[in-house]
Amino acid sequence: MSAAPDRRSSNGAAPAVSDASAPSPDLSGRLVYRFGAGEADGDLSLKPLLGGKGASLAEMSRIGLPVPPGFTISTVCCQYTIDHDGAWPDGLAEEVDAGLHHIEAILGARFGDSASDDIGGDGAPATAAPDTEAPLLLSVRSGAAQSMPGMMDTVLNLGLNDIVTEQLARATGNPRFAYDAYRRFIDMFGDVVTGVPHHHFEAALAALKAERSVTSDLDLTAADLRTLVARYKAVYETHAGAPFPTDPRVQLRLAINAVFASWNNERAVKFRRINRMQDLVGTAVTVQAMVFGNTGPESGTGVLFTRNPATGEATLFGEFLANAQGEDVVGGLRTPRAIAEMEEAFPGVYAQLVDAARRLEAHNADMQDVEFTVQDGQLFLLQTRNGKRTGPAALKIAVDFVREGLADPPTAVRSLVEPHHIDQLLHPQFADATAYADRVIATGLPASPGAAVGRVVFTADEAERQRDAGERVLLVRVETSPEDVGGMDAAEGILTARGGMTSHAAVVARGWGTPCVSGCGALVIDEAAGRFTVGDIVVKTGDWLSINGSTGEVILGQEALVEPELTGDFETFMGWVDDARVLGVRANADTPADAAQARAFGAAGIGLCRTEHMFFGDDRIGAMREMILADTDAARAAALDRLLPFQRADFAGRFRAMDGFPVTIRLLDPPLHEFVPHTPGSQQETADRLGVPVEQVRAAVARLAEVNPMLGHRGCRLGITNPAITAMQACALFEAAVEVQAEGVDVQPEVMVPLVGTVAELADQRAVVERVAAEVFAERGVEVAYLVGTMIEIPRAALTAGAIAAEADFFSFGTNDLTQMTYGYSRDDAGTFIPAYLDRKVLPADPFQTLDREGVGQLVSMATTSGRSTKAGLKVGLCGEHGGDPASVAFCHTVGLDYVSCSPFRIPIARLAAAQAALSA
Ligand code: PEP
Ligand code: MG
Repeated sequence: MSAAPDRRSSNGAAPAVSDASAPSPDLSGRLVYRFGAGEADGDLSLKPLLGGKGASLAEMSRIGLPVPPGFTISTVCCQYTIDHDGAWPDGLAEEVDAGLHHIEAILGARFGDSASDDIGGDGAPATAAPDTEAPLLLSVRSGAAQSMPGMMDTVLNLGLNDIVTEQLARATGNPRFAYDAYRRFIDMFGDVVTGVPHHHFEAALAALKAERSVTSDLDLTAADLRTLVARYKAVYETHAGAPFPTDPRVQLRLAINAVFASWNNERAVKFRRINRMQDLVGTAVTVQAMVFGNTGPESGTGVLFTRNPATGEATLFGEFLANAQGEDVVGGLRTPRAIAEMEEAFPGVYAQLVDAARRLEAHNADMQDVEFTVQDGQLFLLQTRNGKRTGPAALKIAVDFVREGLADPPTAVRSLVEPHHIDQLLHPQFADATAYADRVIATGLPASPGAAVGRVVFTADEAERQRDAGERVLLVRVETSPEDVGGMDAAEGILTARGGMTSHAAVVARGWGTPCVSGCGALVIDEAAGRFTVGDIVVKTGDWLSINGSTGEVILGQEALVEPELTGDFETFMGWVDDARVLGVRANADTPADAAQARAFGAAGIGLCRTEHMFFGDDRIGAMREMILADTDAARAAALDRLLPFQRADFAGRFRAMDGFPVTIRLLDPPLHEFVPHTPGSQQETADRLGVPVEQVRAAVARLAEVNPMLGHRGCRLGITNPAITAMQACALFEAAVEVQAEGVDVQPEVMVPLVGTVAELADQRAVVERVAAEVFAERGVEVAYLVGTMIEIPRAALTAGAIAAEADFFSFGTNDLTQMTYGYSRDDAGTFIPAYLDRKVLPADPFQTLDREGVGQLVSMATTSGRSTKAGLKVGLCGEHGGDPASVAFCHTVGLDYVSCSPFRIPIARLAAAQAALSA
């Protein structure tokens, strides 16, 4: 193929719209890439320029698969034509002409009046029809580098006018087909290019059918369709204010510009925003010879997946409609047939499809989603792309591809399973995710994945009561607090009106694998009246509600669920994952059940045990409150003594569950106010228990209230002002360690001091821990090796990490607080403004979900380096919620952390993300 001209410059016109921050696309290279007849100018590596469709057509042509010839105009031209009111960059007109000649040469057909090479000459008068018997019609289709299905525009059957239509009728011997193509073209061109609404054409069609007393389009004759064409032209002229353009070259130019312009239509812009597609320069436009699936019974059109996208089963899966064009399939007017039925009806074509599917899978090393058309028994492929699939299908396909020799294990790990697929495997899902779209009443944050269904309750107590009575409940709260954990545990799912991705409900629910939708601001909750409203919709206590914690959807009614299955393929695949990764993965686990679940999911230890959750059980919250409200040292010591056996048993349980792995136990972190009684009933109960007047309890509760509790008396500040608390926790921890070690368990305790901002704070708490350890070991006559480290979750700690490392055996980044304090965004209130920030692109992503590499990440990277420069080989992990986010895990790999720690149900996801990061490094 001859090289295209390579010198480009703007045509000098000032841009109509300019975005100073966006880099101008490079227009100096080739602008048009041709394909067909076993050759192509481009290939898959040029996807950013050719879009997915253009690149796949080039690639299919190269490997000798049957594609109609065509050419693709590069994405770099898109913004230029939009900015310049439809003017083309210099040289594009010539390259498009060369592209047209290329198609004509391959097919021996002519487009419009090919004697003129002037595609740039707008408004040229309609010319005589080509004198060949095979007129060339074109499709003009969009295609960006990332799939945006159905978001942009397409024009089919381009090139028809009265004369060419007659010629098509003669060439095919099928006037009905020719006039049907013509009326479809006028409709589509009017709708897409000129903005004449489709319903005006529909109305003309309906009127004609009524006149002819027929119900189906198929009952209209060629003469009827000729009449319809005349009426469509009149509709066009009325609404467009000009006659339908009859020059095919003018049609082509206008259609190309319209497809470029559809890049900025409302739904495409919205789609890119929702899917955070920020790096694309525009759509490519592929101009390709039309092939027709509606020329007769030996023709048809269809879509297929090379394997079943729901189950992964290795058979062709899809639909086929005989004697039809693409819109007929999408339009739903006729019911397509399962692809398997083609084997009997079209054995030759079916065999070709099976062969093409095999070659495409081998070539792309992935399952494919293919569009095809059969014209008079001849197969043409129109597009292929990697097929979307469910989690179970992804896993089966990955393992089968390796077994079949189509991919090696690293390739399967890198590209055949995505982290969200793994997520699907671990949680119940709705049996039919397409069934409930019309019952979604609100959407909040997808705080903890999986689907849940239950009857609505508004208080934690009610949740527990109903659960105990055998009911499935969904807990709906404005927001949750640690006091609600009993009810949260009882609930199938949790829905909150306030809070972000790291608020209490989100963190706790993720830890348990309980589906949760948080920060659903549309909910107006009236707890006292036992109902919530969303606009006019009222949902009362006891009503059925379903939530999708993977999407944030809140759905009226009781959806059917399916349980996940972890098959043998899961273990095989995760084995390949573990072979590939460098980064360790631990669990944030607060209970022995969490620890056991985490271990089953492949956690190599506990990276964060939040001990505060151990104080809420009915048997211990009383003693905790006594300790907090005690007004003498002796009373406090007595309360702590009562708590100690509980803590010891708790720690022993975690050590046993994690035999042979480290267990990081964090000292008490939240402000004490979270533990005191807030309702009149619980305040009275505490007063009775302590034998004091209830006023005294209320006064103590009021005294502990803080204006900014998250920046208040919490973390190591508690331990420094109440060393007895630290001492009790350390004593419980070391006594448990000695006890469990004596059972033959390999115990590896790591004591973690929270919310340190200065090295002196860590030194203070370390001294308490070491003193208690020495006392326990002396008393028991045995030692257990242990580490004392700290969380790095205050910017000052990150900035002084070099000094802090002198007192630390390990660091663990608490990126929830580190994000909160670096941005100055309250993690519990960020849900009120972050959605607006994302919509307006003030933030690229929610920093509480995906680690902000630029700011927070800089602190992580810097603190790791300076910590290790003080102490070579310092063990460094991360235990904020980011530890289960694939993009954040990739960053942790890059920075050289030793491990991430995340909630049990995210462990397999973190393992996969760590492996993918290692494989793509
Ligand atoms: C953190 O701040 O990242 C962290 C893990 O601690 P918590 O969420 O308990 O404050
Ligand atoms: Mg924290």
